[in-house]
Amino acid sequence: MHPVTAPPIEDGAVLVDDAGGIVAVGSHSRVPTPHTAELLEFRDAELVPGLINCHTHLELTHLEGGQHREPEFVQWIRRVRTLKDALPADALDAAAAAGIRDLWSRGVTCVADTGSSGAAMRAMATLGARGIAYQEVFGPDPAQCAASMTELRAAVDGLRRLATSQLRVGVSPHAPYTVSAELYAAVAAFAERERLPIAVHLAESKDETVLVRDGAGPFAEALRARGIAVDAQRQSPVEFLVRRAVVTRGTLCIHCVQVDETDIVLLREAGAAVAHCPRSNRAHGHGTAPLALFREAGLPVGLGTDSVVSVGELDLGAEAEAAGLSGDDALRMLTIEGARALGWEQEIGSLEAGKSADLAVLPHASSRRPTPSHASLLTVVSGRIVHQISAP
Ligand SMILES: [Zn+2]
Repeated sequence: MHPVTAPPIEDGAVLVDDAGGIVAVGSHSRVPTPHTAELLEFRDAELVPGLINCHTHLELTHLEGGQHREPEFVQWIRRVRTLKDALPADALDAAAAAGIRDLWSRGVTCVADTGSSGAAMRAMATLGARGIAYQEVFGPDPAQCAASMTELRAAVDGLRRLATSQLRVGVSPHAPYTVSAELYAAVAAFAERERLPIAVHLAESKDETVLVRDGAGPFAEALRARGIAVDAQRQSPVEFLVRRAVVTRGTLCIHCVQVDETDIVLLREAGAAVAHCPRSNRAHGHGTAPLALFREAGLPVGLGTDSVVSVGELDLGAEAEAAGLSGDDALRMLTIEGARALGWEQEIGSLEAGKSADLAVLPHASSRRPTPSHASLLTVVSGRIVHQISAP
């Protein structure tokens, strides 16, 4: 057993109460077994805190496959949106539900998802998943700002009815090439007023930096072709969003590849967190985010897969490997560090009495190596079994 915040325990056990909380952690001989308790035993397996996926787009789960071959990032984004918009809402809901079951089968018990349809939130509510659904908002034209905010408020109102202690709502002004400065400011004010967490795609491509800093490049050309004025901000994308209080305490900054040391200081001072998505960054040719510098600076960093459209399978083991992590370090990053990045470290991320019983049983040693696909023998969210492979 790997409690993560304490040394590993041979022949370890956890006792979970009816409310879904962990009441005892230790060696099997010392953890009490009340006669009313259901006893589940796994030999030659590793009990770990449930894994945390800090960035997904679960409404895109059905797009896994070959529909996304598009070498140019600008065209690729447009293509994915067209494919998504072509689908009815119930197909998106089904896709998101399939995505959650897939994550559970891999030992993932918490997910930070961004999406525009509300599908992930509805699917998480229906299935009883733990996670945060960040409602995306778009609008590169300042003239669209009021309309985008009306849409966002309505969407958030709807999703909030589904919120619980294990299911949170946030907002996500998508990215600097799809959101105007006016809309960023409006969303930041709304999030502060409504106490909603924020997630942003930030500093992902070089084209994004050129757009924000110089008002040039393919994103600027595409916006001008639509009649939208583009200004050179003379700032990095990180500085641009920190100065507008979009990147603030707890903001989840997704990607952060195109960052320098000044940006990292700004992120730390703002109290932001990073969702590191190495396989997605690699797949799109964006480069490598400076993970070691983030960690040195004390920034909370979790690993995210991004969508199946970017990476194929949502395999956190492969993300850890791509990030150059292994063993206990990889497990820490996929559990307690991910929990910190999402502001959820008091409830989950380690096996400790008082925390929620979010845990996974993985085949022996797989937590020390990249986890193979569909690896979890047992996945539990808030004390409820959500995935189990029955013994042969
Ligand atoms: Zn993304």
